[in-house]
Order: sequence, then structure tokens, then C-alpha cells
Amino acid sequence: MAGTKALLTLENFINGKFVPCNSYLDSYDPSTGEVYCRVPNSGKEEIEAAVEAARAAFPGWSARSPQERSQVLHRLADLLEQSLEELAQAESRDQDHGQLSVSSGDEVSGWRGPRFRLRELGYVYHHVFSIPGEAAGLISPWNLPLYLLTWKVAPAIAAGNTVIAKPSELTSVTAWMMCKLLEKAGVPPGVVNIVFGTGPRVGEALVSHPEVPLISFTGSQPTAERITQLSAPHCKKLSLELGGKNPAIIFEDANLEECIPTTVRSSFANQGEICLCTSRIFVQKSIYSEFLEKFVQATRMWKVGIPSDPSASMGALISKAHLEKVRSYIKRARLEGAQILCGEGVDTLSLPPRNCAGYFMLPTVITDIKDESCCMKEEIFGPVTCVVPFESEDEVIQRANSVKYGLAATVWSSNVGRIHRVAKKLQSGLVWTNCWLIRELNLPFGGMKSSGVGREGAKDSYEFFTEVKTITIKH
Ligand code: NAD
Repeated sequence: MAGTKALLTLENFINGKFVPCNSYLDSYDPSTGEVYCRVPNSGKEEIEAAVEAARAAFPGWSARSPQERSQVLHRLADLLEQSLEELAQAESRDQDHGQLSVSSGDEVSGWRGPRFRLRELGYVYHHVFSIPGEAAGLISPWNLPLYLLTWKVAPAIAAGNTVIAKPSELTSVTAWMMCKLLEKAGVPPGVVNIVFGTGPRVGEALVSHPEVPLISFTGSQPTAERITQLSAPHCKKLSLELGGKNPAIIFEDANLEECIPTTVRSSFANQGEICLCTSRIFVQKSIYSEFLEKFVQATRMWKVGIPSDPSASMGALISKAHLEKVRSYIKRARLEGAQILCGEGVDTLSLPPRNCAGYFMLPTVITDIKDESCCMKEEIFGPVTCVVPFESEDEVIQRANSVKYGLAATVWSSNVGRIHRVAKKLQSGLVWTNCWLIRELNLPFGGMKSSGVGREGAKDSYEFFTEVKTITIKH
């Protein structure tokens, strides 16, 4: 427990007011394993109140011009920027070394407001309107918590919707801090409602609510299945941003000086807890040994440390349960005869005594593993990556595509023709070549196959949060 200091206690934010809850959940600091705040354990009752507030605010908010809504969003973005230090501290507790990305002016400036197209066809005019879909339900995960929440809130309210958001119960503090800025930014009561709690309790109440016609969800594939089932009877509009099993494909003509540090970062940044992280590395046979040696050496330099250590590259994982899950994959790999080249069970982790009960582990490299192994098929979502050799271009494309996911991939080669050929054939919503995580937030973002349905990015999110209506007038 956090000693004698009073625990931070969060409240739901409904109709512009902070509202206490009848029951609370403990939230843990991943770097110590101690309870550091209490999060509302909301349910149906809180969702009813939030939906009522969102529906009451909708006529006024949606009637404002896109320019007025955009001004409010810009003010909110500025206030978030001004609170960056405080938010970053909270987020580093929410999740160590979580990158803080604020949906700021750049993202918001992409919104054009309801679009209007006019096409003349003889004496017939077609008018196409985008109209907001009313109260939208937004469910976000624990990794990059403020970034992924604001990436949903901004387009939804820019389009004229009002929202009920449910952040992850594991990382709720930054969302609660954002609520404190809404009034100052000029967001009217009821436009943004935030209800905290667990998925099965408050998440399901939101998804099943008949007056919430849109659900934008980012999280895991099993949760998406459940959300799809629950929303089916209401034919809800769904956007699903899900997990990945992202390959990096490294050809013999790759520039290893750039490729190795970038691939270490793509595998272990944010503890490997970014949906876009690399977890399968295919290396062409002729450079396999050289790559492996240099990659393991560079991984060992990737320092695991506590949040206040500026030299640390990686912090604790999000929870005890998640740490155990990640470790269980390494155990299974060992039992299958794979080699663990560095990290968990091979090297020693050194931490200050206060952090020994934190959820830390070393970045781990596995090799001699079959494509059929669960470590090569399932999303581990931690600092674990598998390195395997390949011989030909066709073979590696087929192997990279042989999993159910298709979120992100990386291709390393100095042959421009090959880069284009391979990138096009990969079943992946995003392909980076000779780089990783370079992103313009307005571009379409999202996965193929079981990695998701729909796309985020400014224009695509805007379209998700609106319905299209065509009116044809014959003269
Ligand atoms: P999760 O699916 O366990 O939870 C995500 C959110 O859904 C949380 O707010 C949770 O409380 C809620 N939830 C859980 N069960 C629910 C239910 N039955 N009904 C309604 N809501 C429910 O995922 P997570 O562990 O929080 O996040 C990690 C996952 O998110 C990984 O699979 C990762 O790849 C994925 N992710 C994807 C993207 C992307 O953009 N594609 C981005 C970040 C994370």
C-alpha cells in the first residue's frame, strides 16, 4: 500500500461534473506493484446517466458550425499541451515510459466539418451530406492511454457527436485529468462523458445500450469478438482497431547499421506494448548469423529501469497478470526446444529494492523456433521477439502472411523494386520500409484480417463518426 498518503480517488465525469461512484477498484503502480489510486467501478447506472447527458447535449453541439467545434478542440489541444509535464508524470505511472502523444491542433486541423458535394446531371441534383451519428461509445486500451483516447474523442466531437468514453481500468488517470480541462476549453456539459471501470461491467453496459449507435473500440481481438456479438442485435456501426503479430523482413542487402537499432526499438519500445511493435523478425540466411549476433548485442544495451531513470529505455509492464502471461510464452518456447538468446532467464535484472515487486522483465530474443509455435502466431504484447532465417522473397512473404493478424510490417532492403513488390504483397494495413513508426496522423491507419475493421486517421475517423445522406432533387 502507498503508506499513509491519501490515495488519489478518481470520479466519473458525467454532464460536465465529477460524480463519485458507489464502488471502486484499486489501480497499481507497475514500477512498485503498490496501489496508487482508486478507480470507479461503474456499471449500468452510470452508463444510463452518461447516455442521457450525451443525448441531451447532442442537438446543441451538432448544431454548432464545424468552425466553432474546431475552435473548442484547438483550445483543448492547447490546454493539454500546457499540462504535458503533469500528464506525462501520470502516464508514466499509468504505464512506465508510455509515450505521451496528445491529439493536438495537427490532428484536429484535418477536420473539414460536414462535407457537401454537388453533382449536376441534367435536371437532377445530388446533394451528399455527412451528418453526425449522435452519442458515440469510445472504448480504449491501457497502452498509450491518453493518445488512444484523444484519437477517438477529437474526431467524434469534431463531427458533431457527443461521446461516452470508457478508458482502460488499468490506466484511467490521464483521462480523468483531461476532464478537468474540458470546461476551460469550452466543451459544453454532456458533450464528453467519461465513465471508468472494467470491460465486462461498464464496457458491456455501454456496448449493449440501445441509444449508442456507434462504437469505436481499440483493444484485443477476443474483446472485439464479444463487442461484435453484443452490438449485433442493434446493428451498431463498429470500428475495431485490434492486435498484431508484426513481421520485420530483413533482406541481405539491408543497411544493418540502420536496421539493427531500429529493429531493437520496433521490438522493445514501450516494453513491446505498442500494437505496432515487431514480434517476428525474418532475416535472409546469408546474413542471419551476423544479424543475430549484432541484434542480441544491441538488445542487451536496451536498459530496463525505473521511471525516474533518464538512461532507461524500457520500464515495467502494465500489470502482474500481463507480466505472467508474457513470461508464460517464454516458458512454452523453451519447452518446444527454442533458444532464448538474451533476457528472461538468461540475463540478470538489477533494480532498486523498492522496485523489486514491480512488473519488470528484460527484453528477450528467441530463436530456433518454428512458425507454428504460439510465440510466432499469437500476440504476446511484451518485450519478446523471435528471430528466424528465410531463403527467398516468395517464401518470406508467404510465412509473414501466415498468421491471422495483419496490422503492421517492416521491410529492409536497398533494392527499390523489391521493396515495392514485397510491401504490396504483405497482408498488412501498414508497411514501413527501411524505417519504423514514421507516421503522419492524417493518413489511414488500421489493420487487415483479424487486426481490425475500419480505419482511423483524420479523414477516415471523420467518416466513421458520420452517416452519409444523399438527397436527389429532380427539377
Ligand atoms: P482489451 O481488449 O483487454 O481491453 C480494451 C478495452 O476494452 C479496455 O477499456 C477494457 O476495459 C475494455 N473491455 C474489455 N472487455 C470488454 C467487454 N467485454 N466489453 C466491452 N469492453 C471491454 O485490450 P487491452 O489489453 O486493454 O489492450 C491491448 C490490446 O489492444 C492489444 O491486443 C493491442 O494490440 C491492442 N491495441 C491495438 C491498437 C490498434 O490501433 N490497432 C492500439 C493499441 C492497442
